[in-house]
Amino acid sequence: MTSLLIRDCTVAGVPSSSVYMAGGKVARISKGEVSVPEGTEVVEANGGTLLPGMIDSHCHPFEYGWLKRSVDLRGVSNVTGIRLRLQAGVLRSRPGEWVFGMGWNQEDFPGRKMPHRADIDEVSPSNPVVLTRVCGHIAVINSRAVEELGFGSREGAEYERDSGGLTGIVKEGALVEAYRRIPRSAERCAADLQAVEAEAARAGLTALHCVVSPEGYREELAALLQLESAGSLSLRYRVYFPPEAMEFVEAEKLAAAPRGQRVRLNGVKIFADGSLGARTAALREPYADDPSNSGILRMTDEDLSALVERVDAKGFQAIIHAIGDRAVEQAVDALARVTGTKNPRRHRIEHAAVLPKDLRDRMARHGIRAAVQPLFVTSDTWAVDRLGEERVRDLYPFRSMLESGILASGSSDSPVESMSPILGIWASMTRGGAAPEESLSLDQALAIYTSNAASNGFDEAAISEGGPACMTLLDSDIAGMHPALLRKVGVLATVVDGALVHSYGSG
Ligand SMILES: [Zn+2]
Repeated sequence: MTSLLIRDCTVAGVPSSSVYMAGGKVARISKGEVSVPEGTEVVEANGGTLLPGMIDSHCHPFEYGWLKRSVDLRGVSNVTGIRLRLQAGVLRSRPGEWVFGMGWNQEDFPGRKMPHRADIDEVSPSNPVVLTRVCGHIAVINSRAVEELGFGSREGAEYERDSGGLTGIVKEGALVEAYRRIPRSAERCAADLQAVEAEAARAGLTALHCVVSPEGYREELAALLQLESAGSLSLRYRVYFPPEAMEFVEAEKLAAAPRGQRVRLNGVKIFADGSLGARTAALREPYADDPSNSGILRMTDEDLSALVERVDAKGFQAIIHAIGDRAVEQAVDALARVTGTKNPRRHRIEHAAVLPKDLRDRMARHGIRAAVQPLFVTSDTWAVDRLGEERVRDLYPFRSMLESGILASGSSDSPVESMSPILGIWASMTRGGAAPEESLSLDQALAIYTSNAASNGFDEAAISEGGPACMTLLDSDIAGMHPALLRKVGVLATVVDGALVHSYGSG
């Protein structure tokens, strides 16, 4: 077992500390120099802050991995541009493998002409190709994809045709079907995860609360478990699967199986509503910029309650996506029936974006937890249009949440936002000027990414002798730093269970 020493760091406000780790645990914390066994790996911190391992408490690493491997078609100005970038993507792929791309917009092309399957067949005769338009609702697919999906004889508005048959432009339901039917493999999911894991370790993350997808949970869970048993995972994963996977997880006894510490199946991710951007988040009052619309609840009150009871009875943690205040209310109603005041299963609400005082109070009273995304505050510049001046004050009220006693954790919802917890800390303290009274203090911002995030996933986070050796070393002493400067702070090292999974200069 390797041992590791971090020298000259600031731990819990104490400068010039040394932390010695062995056997995956913190063995000794001391002030000043320490003597350690020969062969111990040494990291010089030069006064940098050592934190308990930072955790992203809600992200989609498999989706992000998929996106990273896709051909980026944003900004192309003609069909030749699509062809050139696609060609590079095809060269990176194995024969016959599906190739994805996204981001083209024919509004930027000469004559605003949509691409045709013949345009891309030339560069990809044997790999099936799906290239999604910037909106996500339309794609062009090549002839090989038409063939593999059996779309050739399809009729209707979702399958565009000209005199030569299908043009390759598919829309809405057809595109959803294509995505669902594209074959996935545990091997491909594993490669995607490892690409994301390296980036997460560089960002200072030691654990991810990983949401697996309804379309691919079998392959994604298999990838996680195979990588774990091969000893190939650097980070810890706390996994949340969709309700439709519950039977599979139970039949395969995946949650109960005794394993290492890297992967744990914690619970079930449930959707109560949609998003503010698409005006599908369920609000108590109509949208300010669409008075005929209050958004959409995905389930009836009864169905959500029944599902939450089933999840709770099986011993799983429920995490409910609820963005609008009507959806949060529905989630609180359903959860309050099983939580008592202590909420022993640590059920959470994800996003809890529009959160007026009455709902904050009810969440606190029932011990209902939350996972929030500080970078949404700086990204959702259109929020005031959707909600109006009055209601927007109840959007992302992080300080009020913490002060009313809600245990909230920080997250990225990656690939929606950058995985960097440093950026999350910066956003939670600066908020781009939105409702500045809801800005967090440095201690609160650190807590949502460390102790609160750990607790929300049934882990502990503290740098203490005998405790787990999961920690993040920053390149500066951040106490007293101006919040605006925090986004420039670098990560010197990331340690998971006593192993250095990232160190500055090692790439
Ligand atoms: Zn999400």
